[in-house]
Amino acid sequence: MKRRRPYGRHRLSRDAERLAWLAQGLADSGSRLEDDWLEAEIGALIEKQLKTADEDALNQALDRLRETNPRAYDELADLIEAACEVKRAGEQSRLLIAVPVLAWSRYAIPTRTVPKTLLDTLRVQLSAHILGAEARLHFADFLFSPDQLPQGYTDTWAFAEALWTAAAAGQDLSIDAAALPDSQMFVSDVRYLIGVVQVPTGRPVFRWNEVEGGRAAALVNWREQGGPSFQSLLTGSSYEVLTPDAYFSAWRQADMETRPFALKAAVAYLQSLFNLPANRIRAVAAPYYEHGLEEWRVSFLRAGSDDVVHGVTWPLLGSDDESADIGAEIEALLNSTGIGEVRILNTRMPVEYCDDCGAPLFPSPEAENVHAELPEEIQDAPPAQLH
Ligand SMILES: [Zn+2]
Repeated sequence: MKRRRPYGRHRLSRDAERLAWLAQGLADSGSRLEDDWLEAEIGALIEKQLKTADEDALNQALDRLRETNPRAYDELADLIEAACEVKRAGEQSRLLIAVPVLAWSRYAIPTRTVPKTLLDTLRVQLSAHILGAEARLHFADFLFSPDQLPQGYTDTWAFAEALWTAAAAGQDLSIDAAALPDSQMFVSDVRYLIGVVQVPTGRPVFRWNEVEGGRAAALVNWREQGGPSFQSLLTGSSYEVLTPDAYFSAWRQADMETRPFALKAAVAYLQSLFNLPANRIRAVAAPYYEHGLEEWRVSFLRAGSDDVVHGVTWPLLGSDDESADIGAEIEALLNSTGIGEVRILNTRMPVEYCDDCGAPLFPSPEAENVHAELPEEIQDAPPAQLH
C-alpha cells in the first residue's frame, strides 16, 4: 500500500530540506573539490533513505527543485539514480543495466521467464557487442513489462541489491513470475531484460568505451547478432531491439523510441487486422491540454469511415524541446508509412478518459473526443480496452 506522505506540499522534512540545499550548492559549485564534498554529503543522505526504504525525502526534495531550480534537480536526480544502479565493492564495480526491446502484436505481447540456455546465448552476444572485455554479466531471468519493473527508487535499489548478491555468487537471479503484477495490454509496448554488469574497478563497462565506431556500430552488431535471440521469447510479435545501457538511461531512451514505434506499429497492425493496404488507413492527430500541453493523441480510421478504430498517445517527455513542432513530426512519421491521409487538428483538445474503462479518448475528424473501438466483426481483436 502506498504510504501517505507525512508532510504538506510546501513543508519539507529535515532530510529533504538538506538534500535540496546541498543540490543547489552542487548546481552553483565552482570546482571539482567542492563537487566532491557536496556529492559525498548528498550520497550519504540518499543511502540512508534507500536503506530505510523511505523515499519521501528524496521525492520531496526533487519536487521542490523541479519547480525552483532545474539544474539542481538534474544534479540530485543523477545522484539518486546512481545510488540505485551503481555499486562499488572494493575491486569490483557493478552497474544495473536494462536491455529494452520494442514490440507490437495483434495478440498479447509476452512477459515470461527466460530459459537458462537463452540467457547464456544473450550473455555471449552482449559480451561480444555491448560490454567491455573484462565485464561479466548476470541477469534476472524474466522478460518484464514496464508494469512489472520495480516502482520507485527504494524498490529499484532493493531489486539491484538482490541482483548484485546473485551476481557476486556467479548466478542469475531467479524471478518468481507468480509474484509479479499483471501487465496492461497494448498493441505496442516495451519489454525489458534486466542485468548487472561487474567490471574490475577502473575498467570500461561498455564496448563503445574501448573501440572506435562507438554506440552506433555496437547497436548495428547487437541488432544483427543478438536480435534473433528474442524470437522465441516474443512469439507472435514484431520487435526491434534497442541499445542496452545503464538502467535509467535505457528506460528513458525506450520511452523516447516508443513514440515513433507505436505510430508505425499502429499502421502495420491495422493493415494486418483489416487486411487493407496502408493507403486505405487515415489518421487524425491533435494536441491535448490540461494546464498546459500534456500530450498528443492520434486516431486511426479506415478510408470512407469516420469511426475511430484505434488510438495511440504521444506523451511529452522531460527531455523534449518545448519549441519542437510535434504535429509536423507526427505527420512526417505517419506519411513515411504510406498511410492515405494525415490530418493535424489545430483544436486544443481537453484531456479526457472513458468513464467505464479509463481508456484515453481520441480525436474524431470533427475534433470531438471519442472512444476508439474496433468493429464487432473483427473477431480476433486484441485484449485491449474493449467493452
Ligand atoms: Zn471505455
